[in-house]
Amino acid sequence: MGIQRRHFLQTTGGLALAALMQAQPVEAAEEGFCIPDDPLQALMAGNRRFSEAWRRADQNNWATQQAGNPDPRCFNSPRALANSQHPWATLLTCSDSRVSPSWVFDTTPGDLFVIRNAGNSAFDEAIASVEYGVSVLKTPLVMVMGHSGCGAVAAAMDANPLTPSLDRLIQPIQESINGSSDLAEAVRRNALATASTLIQRSAVLAKAKTSDALKLVVGVFELTNGVVTLIE
Ligand SMILES: [Zn+2]
Repeated sequence: MGIQRRHFLQTTGGLALAALMQAQPVEAAEEGFCIPDDPLQALMAGNRRFSEAWRRADQNNWATQQAGNPDPRCFNSPRALANSQHPWATLLTCSDSRVSPSWVFDTTPGDLFVIRNAGNSAFDEAIASVEYGVSVLKTPLVMVMGHSGCGAVAAAMDANPLTPSLDRLIQPIQESINGSSDLAEAVRRNALATASTLIQRSAVLAKAKTSDALKLVVGVFELTNGVVTLIE
């Protein structure tokens, strides 16, 4: 169980729920992986656990904080989140199943405004969503985050044609990696290019950055150790 979910369940008094999670039927498709027999059942069972913890969160959240909870972090109240949101960072990152921002940064619901596509490219929809995060939700920080072993970047380095839609997906990556044959370097170039595109194609984001209302950074998440490194 990951840090965030474990913490959330513990914070909300959900230790019994944590035990339930271990009872979920799984099969070992490959050593080190847990694949549910019935994916939809697994999704819905997971949501039942989450919603139960969510219902308990309000009272336990404030009670544990006021009782001197040793964890200094505060958690957004589900009741408050039902009516509003005040995320403090916007993340544009890859759809890769191993790159879940709320796990990578150990955050809780309401903290991050997240845009994802395979290869973390600045397509029109992504730019618009980042603009929403900055100009409407007022997040003061935007991070473009690539990751090691990115399949979309690897596909862009490969000359083999894919489906028409996938070819369109990797086109901006091919342009940004500029012929690099090293995957790690290509991932860096692609993330940096995405950040540049955000500023070049969005007057709103460019203005926010110039006026210091926005800090734009680029990071690379390393799957082998979980570390996010900021790059220039
Ligand atoms: Zn990826």
